Amino acid sequence: MPNSPSPTGSHAAALTDRTDDRPVYVIGGGPGGLAVAASLRARGVRAVVLEKSDRVGASWRGHYDRLHLHTTRRWSALPGLRMPRRFGRWVGRDDVVRYLEKYTEHHGLEVVTGVEVTRIDRAPDGSGDWQLTATGGRVLRGRAVVVATGFNHTPRIPDWPGRDTFTGELLHAARYRAPAPYADRDVLVVGIGNTGAEIAADLAEGGASRVRIAVRTVPHIVRRSTAGWPAQATGILVRRLPVRLVDRAGAVMCRIAVPDLAAQGLPRPDTGLYSRVRQGAIPVQDVGLIDAVRTGAVTPVAAVASFDKDTVVLADGTRLTPDAVIAATGYDRALEPLLGHLDVLDGRGRPVAHGGRSPKGAPGLYFTGFTNPISGMLREMALDAERIAKRVARASR
Ligand SMILES: Cc1cc2nc3c(=O)[nH]c(=O)nc-3n(C[C@H](O)[C@H](O)[C@H](O)COP(=O)(O)OP(=O)(O)OC[C@H]3O[C@@H](n4cnc5c(N)ncnc54)[C@H](O)[C@@H]3O)c2cc1C
Repeated sequence: MPNSPSPTGSHAAALTDRTDDRPVYVIGGGPGGLAVAASLRARGVRAVVLEKSDRVGASWRGHYDRLHLHTTRRWSALPGLRMPRRFGRWVGRDDVVRYLEKYTEHHGLEVVTGVEVTRIDRAPDGSGDWQLTATGGRVLRGRAVVVATGFNHTPRIPDWPGRDTFTGELLHAARYRAPAPYADRDVLVVGIGNTGAEIAADLAEGGASRVRIAVRTVPHIVRRSTAGWPAQATGILVRRLPVRLVDRAGAVMCRIAVPDLAAQGLPRPDTGLYSRVRQGAIPVQDVGLIDAVRTGAVTPVAAVASFDKDTVVLADGTRLTPDAVIAATGYDRALEPLLGHLDVLDGRGRPVAHGGRSPKGAPGLYFTGFTNPISGMLREMALDAERIAKRVARASR
């Protein structure tokens, strides 16, 4: 039996006995799912969170040790519970996990752990309900379903030619925890998003003998905070302004706040900051990369093209022989197996609607956490939770 008691004491066994309640099922016990469940509960709607791992906040438990939120404590809190002041302005990984546990307890959320939903369908009787297929042969029925399985669901490593011949260590950033295992080793980090940038800085500070970072597209780099003003606050203020205007203002701000690293191999990008956000690329918040590149502790190199036994071949023809390659190359949302048959995903596998809106032809099906907003994902998930709960409560009346 894969089930284990949830923090609130619910059991998956109990779950099957109570399907005639037709609760709202929330798939995923991360911040997105917990926020929706709390908002529903606050409106008197029974919500059951189904979580495939054995505890809430599974993604956060797996992140690397030095991770802190890039968004402020205040703008990262979920509906109905502040984060304690003692967590500091930039909340650390373990405190995020503590907060999610506390949040579950504080709101008395019904969380069932050890249950993975494998498929979502319309109930066959035409009632408009939703039917979930889950591990252990469970078939569950809810009046609405909220998909909160996470943007960072399945680690993705590109299928580089020769990848399987590589004799060094190759791992996805999702498996990286701390620099200690890489002390005195030559490491190539692939990808310069927020994760790759921070891991490269972490390795350099943590004693790796050499750290290079492979860059396919030069990122926008912003300071997490300038003179006490958080980058997130700017993101919130500008998110509805015209893209070109924000692009221009962003270029000026970056010139003032971030040194020119062109000589070190990291020129300023030639596309606008907000244009890139609209294409799905969030700027890199500096938590050590700028200094590491400026001082030569981290060296930017060209993108990875292929592997050849102990060698990594870069797009400019350079050949490297690192001991380890850490692929900070992103994640797949992996929604297709769950609901690819429902015609609710776009060509890139993203839900066609999110927040309080259901996809056309799929009333009662909601998504949260599948956008990448400049104003901070936790903040947006908190807002989406309220929107979803309002819609569901209205439909239930
Ligand atoms: C390294 C990193 C740093 C980040 N920092 C910030 C930040 O500073 N500020 C910010 O606002 N955002 C940040 N984010 C973005 C975002 O806030 C987090 O990724 C957040 O955890 C997303 O919450 P979620 O609930 O959507 O997904 P997750 O936290 O990934 O939770 C999804 C849950 O669903 C479960 N699950 C998945 N599939 C199933 C299934 N089929 N059945 C049952 N359960 C399932 C998983 O086990 C998991 O517990 C960061 C993301 C990453 C990766």
